[in-house]
Amino acid sequence: MRKMMAGTGWKMNNSVAETLRYAETLAAWSAGRDLSALDLFVLPPFTSLHAARTALSNTPVAIGGQNMHWDASGGWTGEISAAMLCEAGCRYVELAHSERLQHFGETYAAVRKKLDTAMHAGLTPILCLGETAPEKAAGRADAVLEAQVLTALAGQGAKHIPDVVLAYEPRWAIGGAEAATPDYIAERHGRLRETLHAHYGKAAAARTRILYGGSVTPENGPAILAVEDVDGLFVGRAAWQAEGFIRIIEVVADAARTRRPQG
Ligand code: PEP
Repeated sequence: MRKMMAGTGWKMNNSVAETLRYAETLAAWSAGRDLSALDLFVLPPFTSLHAARTALSNTPVAIGGQNMHWDASGGWTGEISAAMLCEAGCRYVELAHSERLQHFGETYAAVRKKLDTAMHAGLTPILCLGETAPEKAAGRADAVLEAQVLTALAGQGAKHIPDVVLAYEPRWAIGGAEAATPDYIAERHGRLRETLHAHYGKAAAARTRILYGGSVTPENGPAILAVEDVDGLFVGRAAWQAEGFIRIIEVVADAARTRRPQG
């Protein structure tokens, strides 16, 4: 059974004061609600992790980092370690967001090392995967996704694969005007699951969650979640305010109520 997820990455947004207001709104809304069918997470900037953790401590909303270094400590100015994220109360770490690839030269070979370190530290990696617009136009989306996921997961045993959350985020849809269509998402998620099946077996493929991200809104969310292989939504802009994230959670909760068991 794959538990559905709703999560948001804030990028370089939300000060400590804004984080406290966000988290307090979310905590007040979630009090007394049964959200046990979902895994929920927010990924604040590092400086807001402590505030988020404190304000969300009695809620089902977990926190995570937006990036992480593969080494345990040392001369890596500006970086943060897995142990530091754990100490800050993180359950998740986002890896390979397209902005890390595009602006900071990150590669999936580096992501593989980060993922391995994160798994050993007990963090759940949220592994972003996605093709660029030219790769899509060239009909290479599935080949690109396969290379990304197999590079990042190289060396992991099949039984650990479901401990990773995959996030299909087409790079051309992130921060854009429109999400990918449900049909397009269904093809990519289906092919990703086939890749997991071919390399890690049926059980790993059936149990691993694959989220969709890229211009998700409360309006387009239901149609995306109607795709059987979509296990939740990973959201940027539409959830940078608590009220927006609450609407996204409601959309995912509705889908979880009506969905037949997966995995
Ligand atoms: C993202 O940056 O991962 C993302 C999904 O952003 P948005 O929802 O704003 O497209």
